[in-house]
Amino acid sequence: MKQQPIRTTVVGSYPFPGWLEFASQNLNEFGAADIKEMIEDAVIAAIHDQVTAGLDVITDGEQTRLDFNLSFYGFINGIEANETETRKFGPPAHDQRGKNNIVSQLKAPRGLGAVEEYLRLKKLAPAGPTLKASVPGPYTLSGRLMPNEMYKDRYAITEALMPFVRKELEDLVAAGCTEITVDEPSMSCYAYKEDTKRFADIFNRTVAPVVGKCHLSTHLCFGNFKGRPVGYRSIKPMLPDFLDLTVDEVHIEMANREFAEIELLAVFAEKMDVAVGIIDVKNYYIETPADVAERIHRCLKYVPAEKLSVAPDCGLSQTARWAARQKLVNMVKGAKMVRGEESK
Ligand SMILES: [Zn+2]
Repeated sequence: MKQQPIRTTVVGSYPFPGWLEFASQNLNEFGAADIKEMIEDAVIAAIHDQVTAGLDVITDGEQTRLDFNLSFYGFINGIEANETETRKFGPPAHDQRGKNNIVSQLKAPRGLGAVEEYLRLKKLAPAGPTLKASVPGPYTLSGRLMPNEMYKDRYAITEALMPFVRKELEDLVAAGCTEITVDEPSMSCYAYKEDTKRFADIFNRTVAPVVGKCHLSTHLCFGNFKGRPVGYRSIKPMLPDFLDLTVDEVHIEMANREFAEIELLAVFAEKMDVAVGIIDVKNYYIETPADVAERIHRCLKYVPAEKLSVAPDCGLSQTARWAARQKLVNMVKGAKMVRGEESK
């Protein structure tokens, strides 16, 4: 289903405009209609930046996931924020992400919200680019929930969340979504110490209902909360088990790792399309179109053009908007240079 050689795409998130961040901290000042309008305005801004850059695939920038209630956990019954477990001060890092207690049986009677996000994107986006929806996989989604008597460990929580993700994927396809990413960066972060066969099994059971019904991909990175990695940043521990993931395309973080292990992309390309992170979302050096073209040529040694997509390393939510915008513009220019559509 992937048509465009050296397709330009993104991982789900895009930076919030400053006013949206301010508003999200003062939501009690706004009425429901104000919030609805605000979210649409933010999505319009994210669409504008991506369409102006000329991307082949765009998202809603995850602009709606602006507070607990509007994020995935807000859609799941049985979760309460735990205010005491998280480190509050000091340098930014993953241990500052909010933890949550499970207080009753986990249920998601209203789905996970991704279908509404997709329909909003479809309503607001111009014709042309492919519209992509992103949903976290159940293992990644379980990461900020604390085990308890009923759900003894992270894997038990993962199994409890899996039906919610499966249902959301089915509903996305039913709503007409043709491009879906199931984000499982926790699997790439912890591949070095966990059972990778078990990861592949969890992933494949999650996506089973929609395999072959959309262009399905996964995003594997090594963490980007507050622009900081958290994993052991190597592809090797994922092999060979991640080659068994039933996806059309795998996305792998490369730029921030200075393209370490680039030769390992070849084994993925034998089985699936490969989206390579060629834009460093953690670095404020703005890649030039010539940098992008050079990086794509390096990727082409291991992945044929018709199987290659290029993208930033991760979602852009942790990168300032001015930088995110210019990085996307230059990424598309560089890709067009290699495709022979634009001169230097
Ligand atoms: Zn990521």
